[in-house]
Amino acid sequence: MSVNDRMRIVIATRSSHKLGELAGLLRPERAELVTLDALGIEGDPVEDGATFEANARLKARYYARLTGLPTIADDSGIEVDALGGGPGIRTRRYAGEAATDTQNNAKLLAALAGLPATERGARYVCVLAFVIPDQGGPRGGLPIAAEARGTLRGRIVGEPRGRAGFGYDPIFEPLGEPPGGRTIGQHSAAEKAAISHRSRAAGRLGPRLRNLGY
Ligand code: IMP
Repeated sequence: MSVNDRMRIVIATRSSHKLGELAGLLRPERAELVTLDALGIEGDPVEDGATFEANARLKARYYARLTGLPTIADDSGIEVDALGGGPGIRTRRYAGEAATDTQNNAKLLAALAGLPATERGARYVCVLAFVIPDQGGPRGGLPIAAEARGTLRGRIVGEPRGRAGFGYDPIFEPLGEPPGGRTIGQHSAAEKAAISHRSRAAGRLGPRLRNLGY
């Protein structure tokens, strides 16, 4: 491994929204963050883990092996109380394999139709996993060098509001808002960054990266 390689960390997401949200928050001291696209990395692993942690870990290991570089992967989603914590790890594919955000939002609104605000509780979850490729374990498995989880509690509103953010943001009202207040889709990027599950996870992982010399 060259000195330069040590100073690069792959952010293993293809979502420009997530990249933007993460890059400003991790703030490694020495390492430069690079994207999969910048490295010309194609292909994605099958996300068949049973938890957000399992999926973040398998993505981090997969891309660390593929790139030979230290890698941070994220897995995130929404857990809705009235759905027993669903869609959870199936958040992106809630309304079908290739579902759009609009279709996912519509399916969730239909599932909660008629429920009062008190029964529309939900939370966003984000898990970040960090893997260093030359730290092979005894059986060749790559250990997780650091991991962090962040959550944001709120509720699902009755109708989409706002166009900012992505995913479920137009129908997710954070707990700091009164019922009928602003959704995350009506928050600026800076306002979202101040409270989001991804920010909280990144805020916890950042110091760990710096402690590890990155
Ligand atoms: P992933 O790409 O497998 O992590 O899927 C996460 C899915 O959860 C996304 O496609 C979004 O639908 C949803 N999600 C995660 N974070 C957010 C967020 O910050 N706002 C809105 N939706 C989110």
